[in-house]
Amino acid sequence: MMKRTMRWFPAVVVCVLAFALTVSAAPPQVVPPEPPEVAAVRAAVDANIDAYSARMIEMNDWMYHNPEPGFLEFKASAMLTEELRKNGFEVEMGVPGLDPKFDEWKIIGGLSPDYSGPSGLPTAFKAKYKGKSEHPVIAFMVEYDALRGNPPFHGCQHNQQGPAGVGAAIALAKVMDEKGIPGSVWVIGTPAEEVGPPTKAAMAKAGYFDGVDFIIRSHGTARTTARGSGGFSSMSIRQMKYTFHGKSAHAAAAWGGRSALDAVFLLFHGIEMLREHSEPQFRFHGVVTDGGVAPNIVPEMASATIWVRHFIDETRVGAVSPRKAGEMIDAKVEQMNNIAKGAALATGTTVDIAQYGVYVPSISVGAFNDLAFQYAVDYGGANVQEKPGPPSGWDETGLVSLVAPGVQVSVGVDGIPQTAGHSQQNADITISPEGHKGLVLTAKVMAATGLRLAMDAAMREKIKAEHAAWLAKYNE
Ligand SMILES: [Zn+2]
Repeated sequence: MMKRTMRWFPAVVVCVLAFALTVSAAPPQVVPPEPPEVAAVRAAVDANIDAYSARMIEMNDWMYHNPEPGFLEFKASAMLTEELRKNGFEVEMGVPGLDPKFDEWKIIGGLSPDYSGPSGLPTAFKAKYKGKSEHPVIAFMVEYDALRGNPPFHGCQHNQQGPAGVGAAIALAKVMDEKGIPGSVWVIGTPAEEVGPPTKAAMAKAGYFDGVDFIIRSHGTARTTARGSGGFSSMSIRQMKYTFHGKSAHAAAAWGGRSALDAVFLLFHGIEMLREHSEPQFRFHGVVTDGGVAPNIVPEMASATIWVRHFIDETRVGAVSPRKAGEMIDAKVEQMNNIAKGAALATGTTVDIAQYGVYVPSISVGAFNDLAFQYAVDYGGANVQEKPGPPSGWDETGLVSLVAPGVQVSVGVDGIPQTAGHSQQNADITISPEGHKGLVLTAKVMAATGLRLAMDAAMREKIKAEHAAWLAKYNE
């Protein structure tokens, strides 16, 4: 159950998920000038980050050399939280109130069935630095999982994302404390971004982000200093697993058995037929995850995972609201489930149906994007792209962006080679001089954005008002 009406949040990344397109874009807005009292304090925050930069780089490099894939980031989360504790933050590990099926979904989504560690999300954390008052709560959201591989590697640069957010939070919290600036600084560690199910969505459903006023995140070293627009990212996803159970038999006397693999064949055939009769904004993808053991044994168990995506701006009548899009994709899932049940009936097998991942469109707040963009430019971000890009398409963060307005900081650095995302070359950037520069710059822009929100009530209201307006449209 969602604790309250959902609202949500943006990001630029092309991670596990692909991109999403614009639905409604708001033009860039002129950022009101920085109040002099903010400018007077900001240098102290910058100085803290400069003083802390060696440690940030050390953690970044350590994580590069010690990559841990999703759900297994025990060392990275221990290091980051230890750092926060040492700097006066109170740390809670894990997420209470997760869906009871979450452990089952973790295995479907990518964790080895041999996993014998703690249940839930033991590597998630919330670190709080309580200042003069609780609100506004400025939350830095960080990831730290590596990509799966042999060996795992930081091709998505989360080794930089964790230390950047931690460094920004520590630098900001110290200054807010010293100067008596109202508000508190949180760091929320969100594990397993690169595998399913969407952990941030599970955390949001469990109420983990409740109480947060603003969320700031980054994503590795950017090539460009880019401005995102306000609006909705466009994509919804439902991740389904179908497991069929039949009856084993010697294949030479197959009439004694019931083939679970036959049911999987029918499932895929049915999905292909459904594809023909689905609106073009739907995409279906599937793989067979278990197809039996040997040809001379009738498979008693077989399974498949099927994803369906829906793009809210590709419908025949044009863009629809995210709420309406949710109804459309859920109706499609019901058709898929009926195909699976039909396949079971036809083959004399039974089927277990698990929906292990739900991704919804996110809200991107133009005023928040513009603010972070302005600081990124002021701090010397390279390769500035003035024209607003589409709303950030980070659908994994969809539910989170409904809870509180969020922004993804993107500060361009010169000299970053063109590499594929999720490549070893992309990982190597993080330990280059340019990568280190990007790390420090990113932390400064994140902290400056946080400081402005803590001290500038008018800016807070502006961002919250726009967020509320998008939320109303979201549910139309
Ligand atoms: Zn990624």
